[in-house]
Amino acid sequence: MDYEKLGLKMGLEIHQQLNTEKKLFCPCKCELTDKKPDYKLLRYLRPTQSELGKIDRAAFEESRRKLEFIYESYDHETCLVEADDEPPHPLNMEALEIALIIASILNMNVVDEFHIMRKQVIDGSNTGGFQRTGLVATDGTLETEYGTVKIENLCLEEDAARRMGQEKGKIVFRLDRLGIPLLEVTTDPSMKHPEQVKEVAYQLGQVLRSTKVKRGLGTIRQDLNISIAEGARVEIKGVQDLDLMPKMVENEVKRQINLIEIMKKLQSRGAKADNEIYNVDDLFGKTESKIINKAISKGGNVYAIKLEGFSGLIGKEVQSGRRFGTELAGYAKKMGVSGIFHSDELPAYDINTDEVLEVSRFLELSENDAFILVADEEEMAKNAITEVQRRAKSAITEVPEETRKALEDANSEYLRPLPTASRMYVETDIPTTVITREQIKEIKSNLPELPVEKKLRIIEQYSLSEDIASQLVRLDKVEDFEEIMSSSKVDATTVGSTLAYTLKELRRDSNDVSKLNTGVLKETFVLVEAGKITKEAIVDVLIGLCNKNDSPEDTARRLNLIMLSEEDVEVIIDELLSENIKIIEERGMGAMGALMGKSMQKLQGKADGKLVNKLLRDKIQNIK
Ligand SMILES: [Zn+2]
Repeated sequence: MDYEKLGLKMGLEIHQQLNTEKKLFCPCKCELTDKKPDYKLLRYLRPTQSELGKIDRAAFEESRRKLEFIYESYDHETCLVEADDEPPHPLNMEALEIALIIASILNMNVVDEFHIMRKQVIDGSNTGGFQRTGLVATDGTLETEYGTVKIENLCLEEDAARRMGQEKGKIVFRLDRLGIPLLEVTTDPSMKHPEQVKEVAYQLGQVLRSTKVKRGLGTIRQDLNISIAEGARVEIKGVQDLDLMPKMVENEVKRQINLIEIMKKLQSRGAKADNEIYNVDDLFGKTESKIINKAISKGGNVYAIKLEGFSGLIGKEVQSGRRFGTELAGYAKKMGVSGIFHSDELPAYDINTDEVLEVSRFLELSENDAFILVADEEEMAKNAITEVQRRAKSAITEVPEETRKALEDANSEYLRPLPTASRMYVETDIPTTVITREQIKEIKSNLPELPVEKKLRIIEQYSLSEDIASQLVRLDKVEDFEEIMSSSKVDATTVGSTLAYTLKELRRDSNDVSKLNTGVLKETFVLVEAGKITKEAIVDVLIGLCNKNDSPEDTARRLNLIMLSEEDVEVIIDELLSENIKIIEERGMGAMGALMGKSMQKLQGKADGKLVNKLLRDKIQNIK
């Protein structure tokens, strides 16, 4: 695809949880819990007007769903701040300091005064109906292979409650995650190459990881902004795999191109979606459709809309395996229904030809026209089909701005409209924090080593291979490595590869590697250094340590891996020579190879190969 010609533009938004002692506005720990909740809270949320008297469109859409929100809460793990029953405590200064370090690494302009705003979010993920967020810095830069990327904003905010599940009309959240400090890094939307987005995401991840941040699944979340010239700005949330990013961009561009094509076709047909919603219950009195029968038996309804000029286009594919109909259905599903029926796919799903004809006749459809059906409880079905109608209408004039959710196959699905600026208002419960120039100077003179710098340093300092060094950095094992190196003289490559590869292999073979802490590893390497075990015996000793609580030395002894003394080795070699005296007499030094093999079979892991070799050589020479 010619991205330049299409006017592709991309931006990134990265959210990273911080690993601070306490949450951002209360003393609770920043830990998730699997414990059974001590109590549950029930809330309903409504949109409020912004300072300018506007209501955010995303908030408005959420409010139409009339959902109940259940919050799983704890006596000790969460407090009244998360429940929004107590004002926030003063700002966690440790979190602000981490934000200032990141801002300094990215050469950003730090604000003079940090103040918290409330960002309206009424999808239930915050008990108060808003998320607290504050701007820390602006205008940073990041160098990439494809040019400089501007870092627009760095914000410090509170993480949202953790979504646990959904039942009909109810969403369950857990309060453990709410309030964990979160950094939001936003680039400008100027990136033009899919590979560049991946590079920036990677680099920002590296910068973040040089400070006190949380590691592991779900602790960093990437959102991708994508637009093409004729299309619209779309935000894809929750891109997990960086390697998938270029494919994700490609799929979104494809989607927008196809939607533009559908739009042009609709315009050329003079397409129209009027505001009428028709009750067509009577046309399905004898239907065999399970979905429709279920809806009607619950006292629900079947609603239809007429889409003039849409015939054949609803079934058109917009992303691999996802049709324009899937886009329409996405809007309906947000209102709680399980899906829609559209005329491009009917008859099917036990809706027969007669029923299709009846609906077409009732709606007075012409050749190019299409219809959509939704069957469910009255209000839900009505809301759903209204949303489909709204989406269909917009398809005639534009590619709508949307927030979408990243799917594992690099496609995406509709989540909600893109939020507008109307969702910010001032938080009056928290005083502002002055950030002094001295504070910034102090931080700048003491910046942490970036992962890439760390890697280059350990390669240089310990003559490590690039691969081992990268692994150590990636696995966050550099500190352990350096600690072990400071206490033993075993060569760096042996220590490095044990930390970088061996532990991973042992874990893969289901060994309990949690027992192999730095102290235990240190003691094991001391054994190597003291000549008590060979390097080759390290793996077996480590496996032994996983299986039984014992010291490395006792483990080596139990496994019969302690090196023999030179005298004991000599005894074994003498024995071997007398057993093989014939071969030596025949071949002389030519017997060396065979005898070395036999010796090492007996002495593997218990004697140094060099010593065995020397003893054999000397003794064979003497026999001659
Ligand atoms: Zn709390």
